[in-house]
Amino acid sequence: MNITRYRDTRGLDTTRPTFTDAVVKGIAHGGGLYVPEDLPAIELEEILALVDMPYWQRAATIFERFGVDLPGARVAELMRVAYGDNFDDTRIAPIEEVVAGMHVLELWHGSTSAFKDMALQCMPVFFSEGIALKQERGELTDDYLVLVATSGDTGKAALEGFADRNHTRIVVFYPADGVSDIQRKQMVTQRGKNVSVFGVRGNFDDCQNAVKAAFNDEAFNAELHEKHGLMLSSANSINWGRLLPQIAYYVSAYADMVTSGGVIAGEPMDVCVPTGNFGNILGAYYAKKTGVPIGKLLCASNENNVLADFIATGTYDISARTFVTTPSPSMDILISSNLERLLFELTGAEKVREWMASLSAEGRFQVDRETFGLMREHFIGDWVSNDESLGVISRVYDETGYLMDPHTAVAWEVAERLRDVNPVLVVSTAHWAKFGADVYKALSGLLYGDPLPADTAGLTGVELLGKVQELAEDAVVPEALAGLDDAEQRFAGVVDAGCDGVEDAVRAWLDQ
Ligand SMILES: *Cc1c(COP(=O)(O)O)cnc(C)c1O
Repeated sequence: MNITRYRDTRGLDTTRPTFTDAVVKGIAHGGGLYVPEDLPAIELEEILALVDMPYWQRAATIFERFGVDLPGARVAELMRVAYGDNFDDTRIAPIEEVVAGMHVLELWHGSTSAFKDMALQCMPVFFSEGIALKQERGELTDDYLVLVATSGDTGKAALEGFADRNHTRIVVFYPADGVSDIQRKQMVTQRGKNVSVFGVRGNFDDCQNAVKAAFNDEAFNAELHEKHGLMLSSANSINWGRLLPQIAYYVSAYADMVTSGGVIAGEPMDVCVPTGNFGNILGAYYAKKTGVPIGKLLCASNENNVLADFIATGTYDISARTFVTTPSPSMDILISSNLERLLFELTGAEKVREWMASLSAEGRFQVDRETFGLMREHFIGDWVSNDESLGVISRVYDETGYLMDPHTAVAWEVAERLRDVNPVLVVSTAHWAKFGADVYKALSGLLYGDPLPADTAGLTGVELLGKVQELAEDAVVPEALAGLDDAEQRFAGVVDAGCDGVEDAVRAWLDQ
């Protein structure tokens, strides 16, 4: 077995962890992010051979090539758990050619109907396995408690991923005033013995600050260790365990594209990704580096367009930026954490340290000409306004009968604008029904800032999906969403914002 070691993007962590160690640790000592010391070189033949395998086996094959420190048979077993009947399509990540040359990669067939499932059904099984290994080796006695502050979607995907996983517990905090009816019901109906969910009085910032404060409270950490044998973890999107599954689906997608005749074997396809934290598109970049014939990586932003500006100019600047609300909230971001990994791959740890220091001190950094040139060999970007993105949903539906969510619409529009001769894989990150209110506005010809029509007032989120279906008759609502109004609500708790609110909630739950 060929085992890959990890280094960090700032060159400050000398521990050289294996894959499972890096997953359990999450972030490197010194604040850097883990990246593999070596990447595999995957031959075209190997890529094409994936088409004869079910998705779980494709993922296991690719993970082995990335030098995961577990026996192949065990990885395969874990991938059967991660990518099985918890998805509503046996292909897991199917591709649909919506117009000639534009192929939509649907990453939302998982249990929460959004792309986070692709990583969060997978990462927790490795996390749990990694803890078990460390305990066996006598390096660890505690289990882990995952604390998550969510603005909506990540919380549910994390709950589904960690539910009933060994050696882990998870508590999710959401802003009581800040999530949609469907998002709240998805979370408070979560099954599983090791999960809990609380609303926090306030907005997402209040919620996130309270959870951060609990993480940094040494007395609280000591208490969890002594009384409950637990250590805290965040399992957030910079964990390499969330990146690796996102590389796998691009390798797999290329094999499917060749089989369907969408691309000639060995010829490049471009990839267009609706981007927030830069994790999804970074998966495509790593897939390209390992040998997948990918041409350009098209980075699609919404009105929070700091990445589009960065790719155009080489300057990342949030010093004078304000946060805008958009119909694609999972892309609303100022600091794209995973960009650090790309910068490391293009230039190395020394410059990354300098630029990250500049970002935290001045809110900006500028890359050198050489790095900018290297980045431009792979990436181009553009952004789409709120009203444009709703317009895209209704236009594409009218022209093709394909109904997409607002995140996918941003990518679709950018792909149309920037596409060249290569076929394009447009990455679809959410089922339309996750964002039913804005899809309803789009199909009704309303603008983003318009209120919903009076006859929809008082409807639940699920009932509103029925209104969408009146406008788009063939549109199907995933079963898990359709049943939400009738599902048992297990978690009614709402706590005050602040460190004490969060800590008391955790204590009360653990003492039950
Ligand atoms: C998280 C998310 C994104 C952004 O993905 P990144 O990896 O953060 O760039 C886009 N769309 C949806 C629906 C998401 O949940």
